[in-house]
Parts: sequence; C-alpha cells; structure tokens
Amino acid sequence: MASPGAIITTNDLCIRCTGRIFAMEGHGMSNTERGMSFVQSEGQQGRIIKPVEPVECAICHGIFMQLDLYASEIAQRLSKYDFSTFLLGSTFPEESTSRESMIQSSYGSRGESIKKEFNRELGKLIEKKMEKELDRDDPDIMVKIDTRYMKMDMQVKSIYIYGKYRKFNRIMPQTKWIKYSDVKDTIESVVGEELNHLTGGDLYYLHGAGREDVDVRMLGNGREFIIESCNPKSRSIDLARLQEMVNSSGKGIEINDLSYTSRAHVRRLKEEKHDKVYMATVTSDRDIEKESFAESISGINGKVIYQRTPLRVSTSRSDLVRERKVMCVSIEDIQKNSARLKIEAEAGVYIKELISGDNGRTNPNLSDLSGMKLVISELDVIEIKR
Ligand SMILES: [Zn+2]
Repeated sequence: MASPGAIITTNDLCIRCTGRIFAMEGHGMSNTERGMSFVQSEGQQGRIIKPVEPVECAICHGIFMQLDLYASEIAQRLSKYDFSTFLLGSTFPEESTSRESMIQSSYGSRGESIKKEFNRELGKLIEKKMEKELDRDDPDIMVKIDTRYMKMDMQVKSIYIYGKYRKFNRIMPQTKWIKYSDVKDTIESVVGEELNHLTGGDLYYLHGAGREDVDVRMLGNGREFIIESCNPKSRSIDLARLQEMVNSSGKGIEINDLSYTSRAHVRRLKEEKHDKVYMATVTSDRDIEKESFAESISGINGKVIYQRTPLRVSTSRSDLVRERKVMCVSIEDIQKNSARLKIEAEAGVYIKELISGDNGRTNPNLSDLSGMKLVISELDVIEIKR
C-alpha cells in the first residue's frame, strides 16, 4: 500500500477524481481544488503527474460536467409533486466504482466515493433550484439515478391518514378479498378512491384495527383505521373535504376524526386489542321463553369460553382453541322466536359461534345451554372500548 503522501502516477484520472482520493485530508476545499493543489507543475513538487480531461477520466467520464443537466431534469420531474424534503441515490457503472475503490485503497483509503460526491453536489443544486431540503432520514421523495442510462426513478413516500369509520350496511367488506370478488365497493375502495382523487395518488391501502364480518354493521364510536395513499402528488389535502366526500357518497359508510399520521402508527394500530359491545338478533327454531332463556344466558354471562377456530374461517386461520372472556350478556327484547341480546366481550370472541355453538367447537355456547337451535340473524358492533 502506498503512503498517503504518495505520488499518483496513474494516467487516466481527472483532477477531481484524483483529489477525491485524498478527500479526508483537510477540509474546506472541493475535490477539484484539492486535486489542483496536488498537480505537479514545472519546478514544483506535486502528487499528480498527469491528470486527464474529465471526459477521458476512467472513473467519472466527465459526469460532473452534466450536473446542471441532471439537476434540471430532476427539478422538472419533481415539480409535479408537492413535497418538502428529498434524498438522492445513484448507481454508477461497475467498472468505475471498482476502479475507484481499488485506487483509493492503494492510497490508504482516505477518499470519498464518486457516488457520495455526485449525490452531494447534485443535492446542493436541487436544494437551491427548488428551495427544498435534503433529508437523509425520512424524505418525502427519494430520487434514484442510474447514471449508466441517465435514468431516474422517483419513490414518493405514502401519505397516511388516521380516522374512524362506521358502516351502516351488511354487504360491504372492509377490503377486497377473493371470497367477495364480486363485491364492487369496499370500505377501502370508497375511502381510497376519494383520497386519491385529492392527493393524485395511484394505489391505496386501508389498514384496519381489526375487521368486522361483511354482514355486520359497525356502529357507535366506529372502528379505527389508517388509509394510505401511494405516490401522492399532493401531500396536504383538506381532511374535512375528504370526510365530506366519503360521507356524502351514499355508500353507507361514514368516517370521522381524521388526522395525518405516519407509517409507524399502522403497526401499533394493528396490534391494539379492544373489548367490544355487540347488539345481536338471535333467532330460534321455536318460541323463546324469557325466564328459561335468561337462565341459559347466565351460563355465558361473565364466563370464560373456549373457542376452536370456527369452520367458516378455518381456511384462512390456523386451527386452535382460544380462551376468551364474555363480560356481559343482557336481554334487550324478546319477540316470539327472536331475541335481541347486548353482548360485551373480549377482543377476539367469535360472537356468531358463541350463540350457534359451531357444532360443539365453542364451549359453553347459548344453543347448548338453552337446548334450542339458535343462530344470529343480525349483528352490529355498537361500541369499541378504547
Ligand atoms: Zn474523473
């Protein structure tokens, strides 16, 4: 290995790329200035014997002469987006970077990579041109430049909006899935389409704090969700307008309490577990007698129940027995063979199976306790305890 003060005798590097070999020696000067100070001139000692013109340079091929061109092209593309911060990443030809690291390591690895200098210098130009800030940690837009083909890709950070939804129909799934492939609207699509209408984004995703069955209404204080708009052109939309658009869409859903949030919130939201209060309409194969029914209900009221994964969801969830608590069950009304029950239960209780028994997979269950064949004909979530 050559010493840091060694003379550079290569004959295929420009002044800037030679200067960059010693980027860590002293501060306050550009690589070109540093390179210049090393050039050996007549009667003087210097480190660089034969610098070449940038276009002839084996590492940079004169790319730094095109910085303005890159900056204009990027600024033009970025001008379509509303953003505050950005970051640049770049790819250089393998022969350039391997030649560079070989040379730099042979002179003591005191240099800086061409990528780093290119990104920094280009970043400065764009900051100035667009009055935007470079942000290494969490940029709104990441620009990836492939210098081999002068190709650029924009990766725009998604926007995340938190809110709560209520659903007043029994036909709409929360998100699209194969089982309901014939369903046109989902909560995700109704909110997402309106959102992207405002942001100019392309895709959208709804992240829910759990989900109710398609035929279950979500009433009361609503279910928390975060909606993500991908590739947004605009990052600051009027949330009241979004709420208004969704709520007046006539699709049978309502959203409220909207606020901007971050990707990190999605995970937290998905991990939250809340007890829920349901209103269930239970139908029997015969008339329901109030006193004995109330007696049967005491068998699940305040009790721990054991539920093996229901048959209806067993294709999508692993088969296991869960232990969950049913906090409170009360009779609201009885009409002939139908009863309305208010049920408060721990997160994760399958309410339909708590009533039907699911062929003995839920124990105890109200069908067995009452000796009747009971099913839930209508179910609503009326409160999520949080
Ligand atoms: Zn060069």
